Amino acid sequence: MSDEYDAFITEETIEGDDEGPLSGTTVAVKDNISTAGVRTTCGSEMLADYVPPYSATAVERLTDAGATVVGKTNMDEFGMGTTTETSAFGPTRNPADPERVPGGSSGGSAAAVAAGEADVALGSDTGGSVRCPAAFCGVVGIKPTYGLVSRYGLVAYANSLEQIGPIAGTVEEAAEALDVIAGPDPNDGTTRDPAEAVGADAGVPEGGYAAAADGDVDGLTVGVPTELFEGADERVVETVEAAIGDLEARGAETTEISLPSVEHAVQAYYVIATSEASSNLARFDGVRYGHRAEGDGNWNESFAETREAFGAEVKRRILLGTYALSAGYHDKYYAKAQDAREWVRQDFEDAFADVDVIASPTMPVLPFELGESLDDPLRMYLADANTTPVNLANLPAISVPAGEADGLPVGLQIVGPKFDEATVIRAASAVEDR
Ligand code: GLN
Repeated sequence: MSDEYDAFITEETIEGDDEGPLSGTTVAVKDNISTAGVRTTCGSEMLADYVPPYSATAVERLTDAGATVVGKTNMDEFGMGTTTETSAFGPTRNPADPERVPGGSSGGSAAAVAAGEADVALGSDTGGSVRCPAAFCGVVGIKPTYGLVSRYGLVAYANSLEQIGPIAGTVEEAAEALDVIAGPDPNDGTTRDPAEAVGADAGVPEGGYAAAADGDVDGLTVGVPTELFEGADERVVETVEAAIGDLEARGAETTEISLPSVEHAVQAYYVIATSEASSNLARFDGVRYGHRAEGDGNWNESFAETREAFGAEVKRRILLGTYALSAGYHDKYYAKAQDAREWVRQDFEDAFADVDVIASPTMPVLPFELGESLDDPLRMYLADANTTPVNLANLPAISVPAGEADGLPVGLQIVGPKFDEATVIRAASAVEDR
């Protein structure tokens, strides 16, 4: 990597169509999203030389809309991390403060946008990986409702949790990219048409999601969950509360709410995510994809040696997930985590009976210094407290800059009901307008 903040693993161009709503727009693509003819490493030694034969649907839709891909961005290995430091290609630096991490796992994508190296970027968000780096780098990131954006061509980490989402400098630009990538895809059976899912009047507004970025929050009810403020850094809380106060000044009504289940979200998330990962990553066996250790003809040995190409965090998660799914422990861990997931989903559903959106800090902490959390995985996992509940409940959310604390960016997270990205975008555009 040679760009100023080491945001890119591969700088190669894929030209878009001559005309379209995104013509002239440059896009950086997270390196776990397939690009035909351009290597797609997932930030891993395992796939260092892997060149996909096809492009992800999201990438195809962007280039069909006229956007030009400028490169593949650095990321935590297979999306596993919160700092972009678990990448086999080395860390990315945060353009807001190069001694700090850009967040993760889509750190390269957020840094590329923050540094002006791309207008828009694609990330993937399994437990916060679009919103966290957006918050740390001072840009906007959208995690769409599960099923709004095709996962075809996204290298799977935890299928039931993740979505591809756009990162951009403004809410409107992120929404424009979402307009292009959203919508059913025959290649991903979990995609849905929002109008069919929630009714035509709720789904996509006329003029698309970008048209919802009008800053109009008059009459909007904003739920403020106490649990997502508790334990957060005071400087973060102050900045976020000030931004929410400004929404009130613009006619929004705020009301305190409670989401008691979210205290179990990180635990449930890490059991489910590692379980799915242990199954997904079994395909990297040296036979079908990427790196292959020679071995001496004994398949078990060559399989084991091949998998030495995974980094420490990936190995840790494969072990955790395999354990959680094993016969004797399945009910104790995996089944319990699924119960907790259902409780989180129910809590949000109950809350949305009374409020339009829910606002909180995106990350409970300011960006870590480089190296600070690498040896302390638990600390890194706990930083996902506010983002993981949203993935467990499959809801849409955005991280929008709320201001700065000690010169560092602070992100405000806005969560909405299923397929109501329009309201989330509208509220976020009001935060940005202040
Ligand atoms: N930090 C979380 C994890 O490591 C989220 C990652 C993601 O969304 N890909 O699993």
